[in-house]
Amino acid sequence: MSHAVNLEQAAQLLARGHVVAIPTETVYGLAADATQPKAILKVFEIKRRPLEHPLIVHLADPEGIFHWSAHLPRFASILIEHFMPGPLTIVTRRPPHVAKEITGGRDSVALRVPAHPLTRALIQRLGELRSLPYPAIAAPSANRFGSVSPTCAAHVHADFHGEDLGVLDGGLCSAGIESTIVDCTKEVPTILRLGAIPQEAIDGVLGMRVPVETHGDVRAPGMLPAHYAPRAKVVVASSLSEFQSLSQKLRESYRFVASIGAPRELSSEFNHSIPWSDDMEANARALYSTLRHLDDLGVEAVLVLLPPLSGLGAAIADRLLRASKA
Ligand code: AMP
Ligand code: MG
Repeated sequence: MSHAVNLEQAAQLLARGHVVAIPTETVYGLAADATQPKAILKVFEIKRRPLEHPLIVHLADPEGIFHWSAHLPRFASILIEHFMPGPLTIVTRRPPHVAKEITGGRDSVALRVPAHPLTRALIQRLGELRSLPYPAIAAPSANRFGSVSPTCAAHVHADFHGEDLGVLDGGLCSAGIESTIVDCTKEVPTILRLGAIPQEAIDGVLGMRVPVETHGDVRAPGMLPAHYAPRAKVVVASSLSEFQSLSQKLRESYRFVASIGAPRELSSEFNHSIPWSDDMEANARALYSTLRHLDDLGVEAVLVLLPPLSGLGAAIADRLLRASKA
């Protein structure tokens, strides 16, 4: 049975090589002490994640980045200064001491400093227990591979109720969508995953238009086309006319159809309808719990009118597009 643990219990479990579910400001994570390869392998086993898909290393403080990275280009230092702690992950060259189990055999490692105070206190406590100057935990999202990410402790319990897993409850995730990943292994940056820090903010501090390459090889599992998917079929429309024609088709094929983002005058066509808020941060925060809620209601298909592709809207649309390909 999954069960609630407090901070001290979570730190003790991590120190002894167990896996613990932890809150962060993006989504909940399935964490192991990053210095214990055996513990890291347990994360893959519980999540049922293929071993070649790397995990993000989470640190208590930005100072730890220098220990966990072999090389940082200048632009990476600027990103660290502006966005850490926060929902930014940098991929950097892997120093020899970083276990290959974390990186799926790659010579790069993904690093992040979460902004959640409980997570940072937990990592610090792990460092005290193990006498590590730069403690870290390796963690992917705390859901089964390929399904919807968890944004509260109840989601984690729902996915892992059959597992002997301690869950540290840190409330609702304030960002609610995964971190933005920037490749810092070369002298020029590339965005590998759109996320909670908008591309415009990254472009702004670096003074350049950073290329986005989220459809390349499987450098990031979040880049897999079919990811973040609920049980219900997800169909996306990028214009109102497309939305209207898809709406008719879906209602002919399915009995229980929901919509996300339907204009008010069309919402009554659906069995259940959830509007977009004008606040894009609120939409990101609610996205995964909305998808889970629609599954709980037994919705067969969800038609989504994609939000505008600027700011956080781009990350939200990215997740929904991937869900639609499952
Ligand atoms: P998840 O928390 O399930 O989204 O998984 C962790 C994310 O970090 C994945 O999307 C990985 O692709 C990304 N990641 C971790 N390590 C690396 C790496 N060495 N290179 C590129 N991406 C990475
Ligand atoms: Mg994930």
